[in-house]
Amino acid sequence: MLARLLHYKKADMFQTTVKEIIEFSGIGLHTGCPVKGRILPAREGKGIRFIRKDIPGAPSIKAKGENVIATRYATTLGKDGFTVSTVEHLLAAFYGLGVDNAIVELYGPEVPIMDGSAAPIVELIEEAGLRKLSSARRYLSVEKPIEVKSGDKYVCLLPPDRGKEVMFTVDYTIDFSHSYLGKQAFSTLLCPVAFKEEVVRARTFGFLKDVEMLKENGLARGGTLDNAVVIGDNDILNKEGLRYPDEFVRHKVLDLIGDLSLLGLRLMGKVKAHRSGHTLNHALVKKVIKNQGCWKIVEFAPASPASEDKRYEPSLIGEELVTA
Ligand SMILES: [Zn+2]
Repeated sequence: MLARLLHYKKADMFQTTVKEIIEFSGIGLHTGCPVKGRILPAREGKGIRFIRKDIPGAPSIKAKGENVIATRYATTLGKDGFTVSTVEHLLAAFYGLGVDNAIVELYGPEVPIMDGSAAPIVELIEEAGLRKLSSARRYLSVEKPIEVKSGDKYVCLLPPDRGKEVMFTVDYTIDFSHSYLGKQAFSTLLCPVAFKEEVVRARTFGFLKDVEMLKENGLARGGTLDNAVVIGDNDILNKEGLRYPDEFVRHKVLDLIGDLSLLGLRLMGKVKAHRSGHTLNHALVKKVIKNQGCWKIVEFAPASPASEDKRYEPSLIGEELVTA
């Protein structure tokens, strides 16, 4: 806990990007297509932007709530007739590690699923390292509760507790009413340490009874036991077992972090969710964007300029690719 508190005191004032170009590849969970990509450094204030390098003209789209066009089984960004889907785990990796700005080049319509978790991409980002930029980070500080509901499902943002004003805590419960998977609850004070220890390895999951239906609907075509936990009637089909006893709720937390990162700001406050998913998560993002009276933007004035900001290698910056 002490390491986490120190992290909040010291490390979060400046925006960051990745230090090196990162290459990755894999198959898309829903399309089943192989796809490769690269993550490039980006300047302060640029946020996360995806570029479809396989499409003539290489159109690009910013990772922000307004650009979400579908939330069924994955989060899909899109505009002008092109899409980038299954962005949530990569976005969670950026948010969880504290990467504020990056360009993601993709040679296909979907971010590869890797092993179903954020662990492989987190490892690659950690290998590359982060570069501190000179601009202060911008935080969204929750002032009044903002909630979305659907039946008994809900997700809400709440103001932080006294004494924890600069922190972001997550509290999530699931209840599947299934013979194998029932209730699970998970809470954490989210910082890079907690993210890496408690969340990144949790994999995508699905029920065996749904697999045929998903495939008939053109979904989960790339799904295998190598990239998803598959739940049968009374057990999981994956021989290696679970990575955390409560891996399922932790994966939902990973999804939630990725979805909330589409606000484009780091969060100060609490998020509570019960049986939420991409659709409800995005309803919350949209409600937050609309209800500006419920939050304020906070910047911590840097005491001194970041030390590394003047040493860009221009060849590493994908700036020239960013047009909007
Ligand atoms: Zn997921």
